Amino acid sequence: MSLDRQVKNEVYIKNLFRRYYQENRVEPPYSMEKREFGFMFFGAQTMMRHLSFSEPESLQKFLASRVPSNAFYSAAYYTRPDAARMDEKVWEGCDLIFDIDADHLETPCKAVHDKWICQHCGQSGAGEKPEKCPLCGEQSIEERTWLCEVCLEAAKNELIKLIEDFLMADFGIGTDELRVVFSGHRGYHVHVTTKALLDLDQNARREIVDYIKGVGLEPRYHGLIEAREGRSKILKGPRTDEDGWRGRLARGVIKTVLLMDERNIPQERKMRNALRGLLRDKDRVADSLRAGVWDPVRGIGIDIWEYIAKLAVEKVGGRIDEPVTADVRRLIRLPTSLHGKTGFKVCPIQLGELSSFDPFKHALVFKGEVTVHVDESPKFRVGEEEFGPFKDEDVELPLSAAVLLLCKGVAYLK
Ligand SMILES: [Zn+2]
Ligand SMILES: [Zn+2]
Repeated sequence: MSLDRQVKNEVYIKNLFRRYYQENRVEPPYSMEKREFGFMFFGAQTMMRHLSFSEPESLQKFLASRVPSNAFYSAAYYTRPDAARMDEKVWEGCDLIFDIDADHLETPCKAVHDKWICQHCGQSGAGEKPEKCPLCGEQSIEERTWLCEVCLEAAKNELIKLIEDFLMADFGIGTDELRVVFSGHRGYHVHVTTKALLDLDQNARREIVDYIKGVGLEPRYHGLIEAREGRSKILKGPRTDEDGWRGRLARGVIKTVLLMDERNIPQERKMRNALRGLLRDKDRVADSLRAGVWDPVRGIGIDIWEYIAKLAVEKVGGRIDEPVTADVRRLIRLPTSLHGKTGFKVCPIQLGELSSFDPFKHALVFKGEVTVHVDESPKFRVGEEEFGPFKDEDVELPLSAAVLLLCKGVAYLK
């Protein structure tokens, strides 16, 4: 897109953002005076950081007058949040943050709505960007990701799993210590403010990530064992109603068996024959496992079950982004601010409203209509209406839909 079109877009979006910050109160984070703030601005690549605000009014004034394209604050608490050097800030603790992003989930629709373009030779393709350009081998590849309902629904299912299965059931975190936020783009954030967890260092937080993902999980330490009874060996496994990973593993193995397909089982002959036997009778196998009996089919040894258990861990483990949780100095998006890549609100969600939360409805803030020229856009929904796909055409759109396309850089103002 030409530079003057881009500038015109930015001026237009900035004016809309200004009005939003003039008319809407941004929710300051808990203990705001101990947080570092950082901002990005329209037309600039760098982040302005090491700022602090002692009361909500000064933050609000800053947002309405400087109008950042993106607003962040530290998950950490500092004695001197505005000190220019990290070691001068004096770290006092950090909320435990989880990030679930559609970028890290395999959804079939990415092949339709995501694109990559080699900055070196111009080669482009659909789906996730390759490590290096298949044509020229360069690594500078621009990604043009899109946010879609299928991707965001997959992210929300992961979010609910994280909260219900891990944070609440396994860690005992109360609903009043959890804050859930739609990121404004392709995912969700969970902020845990439990006092006892604030001191955890990077390594401890990494352990939490590993636990949730099931990294290095050995089924034999979770009840899957071969026991000797008299002269024969019998197989024992966890029950579905056990706490923590034991029950999760049992339920995951059942799910894995039921979803397993003969077409994608390993080629190795012994393994292949054993799995085929199992799959021929998978409903009975599932019933048997539900009843806690782990050797329903003759000839299926512990190695086969361990193989299935490993697949199950991938299925039932949490899909969280490790660096976000492990980094105790990271800046995260400020809830109720606007996301510069979409114009959507970084939207806090009540836990009870999680299943009905609709990012394409509840995160919209702009009202009205405008005509834009769309270079190219996949099909998308905003509110109750579907739009596109568009290719090189003028379209009159609801303002929130138009802002999304302008922010994504796929449309310009007439
Ligand atoms: Zn290339
Ligand atoms: Zn998608």
